[in-house]
Amino acid sequence: MEELRRSTVRDLELYYNPKVKAIRMDTSVNVVGPNPAVKKVLEECMDMEVNQYPSPYSDDLRKALAERYNLEADNFVVGNGSDELLDVSFKSFLESGDVVVAPHPSYVLHSFFVKINGGCFETVDLLPGFQLDVDGMLEKKSKMIILCTPNNPTSNCFKRADVKRLIEEYDRPIIVDEAYTEYTSEEYLSYVNEFDNLIVTRTFSKAYGLAGMRIGYLAANKKLATMMQKVKIPYSLNKISEAVAIAALQNTEYLEKGQKIVKEQREKLSNGLRELGFEVFPSDGNFIMFRVKVPSDEFVSRLAAKGILIRDFGKRRMLENCVRTTIGTEELNELLLSKIKEVNEEW
Ligand code: PMP
Repeated sequence: MEELRRSTVRDLELYYNPKVKAIRMDTSVNVVGPNPAVKKVLEECMDMEVNQYPSPYSDDLRKALAERYNLEADNFVVGNGSDELLDVSFKSFLESGDVVVAPHPSYVLHSFFVKINGGCFETVDLLPGFQLDVDGMLEKKSKMIILCTPNNPTSNCFKRADVKRLIEEYDRPIIVDEAYTEYTSEEYLSYVNEFDNLIVTRTFSKAYGLAGMRIGYLAANKKLATMMQKVKIPYSLNKISEAVAIAALQNTEYLEKGQKIVKEQREKLSNGLRELGFEVFPSDGNFIMFRVKVPSDEFVSRLAAKGILIRDFGKRRMLENCVRTTIGTEELNELLLSKIKEVNEEW
């Protein structure tokens, strides 16, 4: 059959899907363990009317988010992981061939969502210190901009003045992906009503420990949010996930425990890695990027053979031989450092 696929999806590859059995320190999720909200809700949910559809737009969760962030329910769109909301954002605005600009290096799936929506993904390299090249990004004739702060995989926050300038000077939709915002004091969600172009996406997958439940949300001014609500697939968030998310918002003990661990362990693990001779980059997230002195893919597979999986980014431009690890509990980090030491010694 002739090649009928959309031209923008022809070079796509399947997403990262490692098959190794190992402790997962490669996905920057919450190391505290599953959020207890799941257990609580599942017990209460035994009699849930699952023969009936959920609310098409997850009204109860949007209300809970509005209360939590002092906004209105109509400022929010919620869905099946923040990935769905990234998809919805591009689906709402992109015409075939439209350019979306993002900094490089950043979250790999941003380009995926642009391409599956018919857009062209263009990047502007980060400046030294992995900071935004605001002029470079504004100069591109783009339909949308996307960035995430703290940035994945570099883990630093972008300078506030730079992000603000981009939002203010760009006159089209700009997405700020805040998947790791709970680990910093930086955030832009509370400014959504001040700008007509700002879309902020967030997730329950990281600090809330609910990656397996697939819950995310976006916030924007009501006009933008309502526009995007119409594009989202109705019912995309199931009833159980919605109930779990509401319970997780109400009980912040688990969230705070994870934040405390990351705060305490970030410096300790960074120092431990430095002592082992690596170049370690500053982190504002729940993960750390560092550069190894050997081929990083081989380093990651040798570490995986010892039972711990971290993520290799060594083939990406500017990240030669860089790897990324989730920040674990004290015990987990000690185990990680000891296994890395073994890999070093055996090299
Ligand atoms: N944005 C960034 C920057 C991420 O790292 C991730 C998860 N890896 C996501 C979005 C997607 O999160 P979710 O699980 O909510 O789809």
